[in-house]
Amino acid sequence: MLKINDISFKYHGAKDLTLKNVSAFVDNGEILAVVGPSGGGKSTLLRLVSGLESPKEGHIFIDDKNVTSMRPEKRNIGMLFQDYALFPHLTVEKNIAYGLKGSMKKKRVKDMLELVDMLGYEKRYPYELSGGQQQRIALARALAPEPKILLLDEPFSNLDTELLSSIRHELFEIVRKLKMTTIMVTHNKMDAEYADKVIKIVDGKVDQA
Ligand code: ADP
Ligand code: MG
Repeated sequence: MLKINDISFKYHGAKDLTLKNVSAFVDNGEILAVVGPSGGGKSTLLRLVSGLESPKEGHIFIDDKNVTSMRPEKRNIGMLFQDYALFPHLTVEKNIAYGLKGSMKKKRVKDMLELVDMLGYEKRYPYELSGGQQQRIALARALAPEPKILLLDEPFSNLDTELLSSIRHELFEIVRKLKMTTIMVTHNKMDAEYADKVIKIVDGKVDQA
């Protein structure tokens, strides 16, 4: 499980704290939705969990292990961010294999393509895919190294409304099937309805209302 314990954080050069005494708890296999107005600190919270930023105060635990000062690549966290695009110069299979090592690479890429229902697209480049297909490949890439935790930052914000409901449904189905421990930042009320629990972050603080 993931425990965020009383985190405070300030960006270098910023005047005020961006996050103030934020705590949250996600059990194994649970989906936590993080909602709240733009600029409230939702993405910052994910950056802290992933290790891209370090808190000024407070601690982050994964399975009771204190990971607060652990490097991002050691945390075993998968990320799907709105601006975390596929590598445009790499094929689908190379994108998915990017973070993988060893002899199981090929098999793992195939399994991931099967999971997101994209077998046969191995040799395509991102520009040869629709927005929804790109998003599925980005999910496959995030899940390929078998992360313990999945972080999603407004993963649907760049998709057309027609695509939205089917992609959303697929993504949650996959996450449920894998019993992934997941934090999803979202603007959308529908996304939050798929989650096991919801926290709201307003102006850097957890809004209890
Ligand atoms: P949200 O994801 O809820 O919209 P963010 O976490 O992106 O909010 O941003 C929270 C606050 O931190 C905002 O005021 C934003 O301008 C500021 N901020 C975000 N990234 C940086 C950065 N790299 N340096 C300085 N301030 C930042
Ligand atoms: Mg954000």
